[in-house]
Formats: sequence, C-alpha cells, structure tokens
Amino acid sequence: MSLYPTLFRKLLMPAYEIVKGKGLLKYIDEYQGHLNWDRAQLESHQWMALTKLLHHAYTTTSFYHDTWSKVGISDIREIKNLNDFYQLPLITKNDIQLHYNDLISNKFTGNIRKSTGGSTGQPFHFEYNIESNTRREAVMWRGYGWLGAGLGEKTLYLWGADVGEKSVLKSIKNNLYHGFYNRKILNSFAMNKDNMRNYTNEVNKFKPTALVSYVNPLFELAKFIIEHKINIYQPMTILTGAEPLYPHQRDIIKQAFNCPVYDTFGCREFMLMSAECQQEQNLHINADHLVVETINAQGQSITSQSGDLAITDLYNYGMPLIRYLNGDRATLIESACSCGNPLPIMQSVDGRKLDIIKTPSGKTIPGELFPHLFKEFNAIHRFQIRQSKIDSLDILIVENSPLDEATKTKILSEINKYAQQELSIKFSVVTNIPLTVSGKHRVTICEI
Ligand SMILES: [Zn+2]
Repeated sequence: MSLYPTLFRKLLMPAYEIVKGKGLLKYIDEYQGHLNWDRAQLESHQWMALTKLLHHAYTTTSFYHDTWSKVGISDIREIKNLNDFYQLPLITKNDIQLHYNDLISNKFTGNIRKSTGGSTGQPFHFEYNIESNTRREAVMWRGYGWLGAGLGEKTLYLWGADVGEKSVLKSIKNNLYHGFYNRKILNSFAMNKDNMRNYTNEVNKFKPTALVSYVNPLFELAKFIIEHKINIYQPMTILTGAEPLYPHQRDIIKQAFNCPVYDTFGCREFMLMSAECQQEQNLHINADHLVVETINAQGQSITSQSGDLAITDLYNYGMPLIRYLNGDRATLIESACSCGNPLPIMQSVDGRKLDIIKTPSGKTIPGELFPHLFKEFNAIHRFQIRQSKIDSLDILIVENSPLDEATKTKILSEINKYAQQELSIKFSVVTNIPLTVSGKHRVTICEI
C-alpha cells in the first residue's frame, strides 16, 4: 500500500492549507464524522441548516423575499417542517437567467462565478460563495473516499479538459499541481480510435490506484482494450460520472479493467450529489449538504417513483438555490442501505427530461429505450436520436460495419411498440457525432 495518501493528508495538505487557508481538511473531517450519525441526527442537522438558509435567503435576496411573499409567507418561521418547505415554489434555470442579480445575497460579494454550456449549447451562469465551494469539494472527497479515490490516492482522471490551448507555463503549473494531489488528467475530449493505444499506455505507465472517468470515453476505451486484447493495469477502483452509466457499459468496463466500477452523480451547480457505496448499487445522497427531492408532474414532492430532481444547496449563501430543478430525473427510496452509511438512498438516476421522445398523439418514449435497444447490434458503434419535429425522428449512426435491412427493421419494430407508427423514422449514417460543449455524448435530443 502506498504511503502517499497518509503523508499527503497528515503533512503536505495541512502545510498547503496554511498557505491557502481554505480549511478543506477541516470540512472533510466534519462531513466524514456525519457518517457515524444515525438518520435522526442527520435529519435534525439538515433541518437546522435549512432553516438558517431559508432565513438568509428571505432576508438578503429580493428574489426569495418577493417570490415567497407572493405565496403568502410573511415570516420564515411559518415554515415549520419539511412538508411546509415542500410547498415553496420550485425554481428553474430560466428563473436564474431572468432574475440573476435578485438571487444574489446582498451580504455576499466576491462569489465564484461559474458557467455551463448546458445541453442546448446556450451558456448558463450561476455563482456561489467561497466557503460553499470548499464545502462542496469536501463532500466530493468524502464520496470519492468511500469508493477508494479519496484525497491523495493515486488517481487517473479521464475527464474533459479545459477548452483551448494551454501556455507552457500553465501546463507546468497544472502538472505540478496535479502531481501534488497525486493525480494525472487525461483529456477525454481528445481521445479517438487512432490514439487510444496512447491512453492505455498512459494507464500502464501511471499505475493508478483509482480511475475516475466520464462514462462514454471509458466505455469506448474498455471496448478497445477487450477488442485488441491489451494488457491493462488493474486499478483498485473505478468511479464514473458526468453521464448516465448503463448496466451494459458497467459490465464492459468491469471486464476490461477487472475491477469494481461505481457510479457517481453530480452536476455543475452542486458538484457531487450522490455516490454509490461498495455494497450495493444504490447511490447515497449527500443529505447533510443538500436537500434532494423528486417532484411528480403535479409538482408534489414524492419518493419511490421517478421524478424531477429539485435540489437545495444548504451552504450556498452567495446565490441561494432553493428547490432548484436541475433537469435530471431520479428515483429516491426511503429504506436504509445495508452498508451502514446513514445517508439516504437514490435508487437510480433516470436520465434527463430532454431525453424523452414524443409523438403527435402525446405518447412518450423513454430515452432509456435507445441505449438498451442499440447495444444489441454490433454494427452500431455510436448513435444519437434527434427529434426536431413532432412527427419525425432521426437516428444518426456511426457504423462498425454496414447496417443491414434486417437490423433496421428490428429497430423500427421496437420503437413502434411505443410510437405506434406515428413517427416518420429516418436512419442516417455519419462519420462522427459531435459532443455537447461540455464534452458529453447526448443519447437523445428532443428539440420540441
Ligand atoms: Zn450503502
């Protein structure tokens, strides 16, 4: 076992923190300690942090003051429990765009401002205060830590890198910085069939304890390793994120690297929201840092069935995001996990709302159908489903080998089990399917 993680945690990082003064280790210890709590302690902690946040948002932002006043709140003490909280209005990306300045607390200046490309390519901005940033990093390290990829562990990231060319000086600075954290970053955006051998060489050279990756690039690399019978270094653990991990992808990645593969779930607005534990394929929600709910079509907070995620960051005091619909769907369940981790469970991440394909008569086709269906056909290397009109569907395919008529017929018949011939479906063979601006592969895009 390597001594570096211990040396890093006990000596190097504390020294670095004296210089940087961020307090990351303190927060990691604090959040780590919460794993010894029982459910009641967690709930009481969450409620206390939530009431504090609600008071702060109501008294220091004009957005929440006005929005909540409109639904009859005149004093924040009227919100006595979570059920009362669940009656507060939900907010969306659109609200943030329209009321950006009204959402920023008048007590906070010098927030960290972030942008995301979003699925449509339209830039979207939001911000958070500096302490909230350190806290979210700590929560991330806790989740990564219970999966064997904690602070200081030798970790290889196959991840989206910064856009644009870096200066030599910045590259050196980056390399030193990542070297200090005992990690190496490989740019997943730049990986393709022609250079995959270099990526496998990098894995073998670096010999990571943990590998952290976007799902689709790692899935591609795993298929390449199996196909070319490459001898690959076996990490202790693999963590995926940023894109949905489908069961067939997990199987292939496991087979290629011969080690366990765990899914994590986050988004740019909140960083890590949940991560699987080692015992079961359940994700534990960071409920001591966030309030995570799911909402049905009637706008009610629900559990045990799939719903739209609404998230509240308990510590973003700079630009409070309260009951924010981030566009993802998930299923939350109330039972406890057998692993002993008291954090509540997200049973599954169910994709994004945009993934659903519609028909003229109002039928819907779940986005999950497509990866499930297309994995059966070896001729298909990559695909994307695009709907720009209510009565048609475009299927873009990058082929491994020519797609025969029998396969097309089979695909059409599966889709028509849902679409009932209401869609005019067109196949197009393409050489490349562009990624989103944030480097993710979109399985389905519905533009209507
Ligand atoms: Zn568990």
